[in-house]
Amino acid sequence: MTRYIFCTGGVVSSVGKGVTAAALGRILKARGLKVAIQKLDPYLNVDPGTMSPYQHGEVFVTVDGAETDLDLGHYERFIDENLSRNSNVTAGQVYAEVINKERRGDYLGGTIQVIPHITNEIKRRILQIPKETGAEIVLVEVGGTVGDIESLPFLEALRQMRSDIGRKHTFYIHVTWLPHLGATNELKTKPTQHSVRELRSIGIQPNMIVARSDYEVDQELCEKIALFCDVDEQAVVPMVTTKIIYEIPLNMEKLGIGDYLMKGLKLKERRKPTWRTWTRLTKETRRKKPEVEIALVGKYVELQDAYMSVKESVKHAALSLGVDAKINWVHSSDLERDRSWEPVGNSNGIIVPGGFGDRGIEGKIMAAQLARENKVPYLGLCLGMQLMVVEFARNVLNEEFANSTEFDPATPYPVIDLMPDQRGVTDMGATMRLGLYTCDLRPGTIAVEAYGRKRVEERHRHRFEFNNAYRSVFEAHGMRFSGINPDNNLVEIAELKDHPFMVGSQFHPEFLSRPTRPHPLFVAFLKAVCNRAGVQTPADNHKEILLQN
Ligand code: GLN
Repeated sequence: MTRYIFCTGGVVSSVGKGVTAAALGRILKARGLKVAIQKLDPYLNVDPGTMSPYQHGEVFVTVDGAETDLDLGHYERFIDENLSRNSNVTAGQVYAEVINKERRGDYLGGTIQVIPHITNEIKRRILQIPKETGAEIVLVEVGGTVGDIESLPFLEALRQMRSDIGRKHTFYIHVTWLPHLGATNELKTKPTQHSVRELRSIGIQPNMIVARSDYEVDQELCEKIALFCDVDEQAVVPMVTTKIIYEIPLNMEKLGIGDYLMKGLKLKERRKPTWRTWTRLTKETRRKKPEVEIALVGKYVELQDAYMSVKESVKHAALSLGVDAKINWVHSSDLERDRSWEPVGNSNGIIVPGGFGDRGIEGKIMAAQLARENKVPYLGLCLGMQLMVVEFARNVLNEEFANSTEFDPATPYPVIDLMPDQRGVTDMGATMRLGLYTCDLRPGTIAVEAYGRKRVEERHRHRFEFNNAYRSVFEAHGMRFSGINPDNNLVEIAELKDHPFMVGSQFHPEFLSRPTRPHPLFVAFLKAVCNRAGVQTPADNHKEILLQN
């Protein structure tokens, strides 16, 4: 019988529910159990693919090509399992499904209502997960904050699950925030008490409260929360903000949460958790290491969540090489406005990540030029690859007006163009080239050297591609197309011949990087950065982490 752990949030949003759920998943997986995680998002968009990153942060892409919430990235990095499109359910999907059924006549004669029709559809989607994954434990995180109007149907569905599948098989965790009052230097529990009261008024009594805080939480405070919110003292878990998120499962384990959960769900552990790799990982993170600086030239840099997986991938790769990587967040529009390299500063490497729309494009092209001319290591991710190609056309092939047709539909030199199957696509939602595609690597290239394999599969999210009409002229001038999709001959990786590391990928390698398995392209890029910075790296360090995993 599958067990379900439901995580709700209280007091404020962005309290860290996603990382909490991911860390709990790791704790259970460490006991040999098969774990799956699902995120329920109460907004009405069908998926976050059509939302601005300013609204929502990064769009994480799954193997099967779903555009999902960035929390799925945390889940995959913590539990190291590939999740599917069913792992992210939005209110938009639920309503669309129910309304489609109604139009088909499936409910003929009936009045369609939030309860039971919407709640049943939510439950159906939760119950689908163990069928699809064989998971013994499903962690379900509900987005938003208790008290939001739009999350009510989701909370009602979770409440019903307790009676549907039984008390023994469900466990409710409420993640809240303890505000700190500067004047009296104390943490306050009242908002937590109110939030739990709100949750109870919906019919859910939490089994555990995770109390997030920027300050140490003392025992007395935990006792107070336990008393007012009617949970065991042991089940009040203080979770102090840490810069090193991969420490969270270890901290939770120390507080005895794993054992408490197992007992609460009447589960037997298959093996004793050892935490060897994770302890090593976090010790290594804390160790003072030589630092290298990387400029990330993007459009949404004020909101770093928009580049969550890129940020994490840099961390993983740096860690595996025994260095710290500091990211200098550079606004591409600033480069464009000031026509100056200054914001890139002391950086010994440049990343141009993915993006859409023409704001700041010229600044990113400048960054590519800087990297090419000064032999600064450059990693272009999707749009970053496309702009590296545009820069090359303009400044090496002397085609001043070369561009991507995304930004100049009338360009006389369209080196990046809409993919044929994208022509005539009018709907914006879920219509890009999405998910896993194969890439064959050409011998003798930086790419094949980095991967150490001839064929890889990577995740995609784009509409435009390299225009193959220009392939030979690019090759004649020093660009190599080191990764090609074998099915449609699409360029997947481009790199420069006479450059220590100027590589762009049409796909998003950042979605595959894991703390204990850094992505080969990021590792190779970081190595080039270290070389330029004159920092020595124990070359095989990351392999060691791999072996211990
Ligand atoms: N806008 C570009 C395209 O659609 C790049 C997309 C991206 O960077 N994810 O092809």
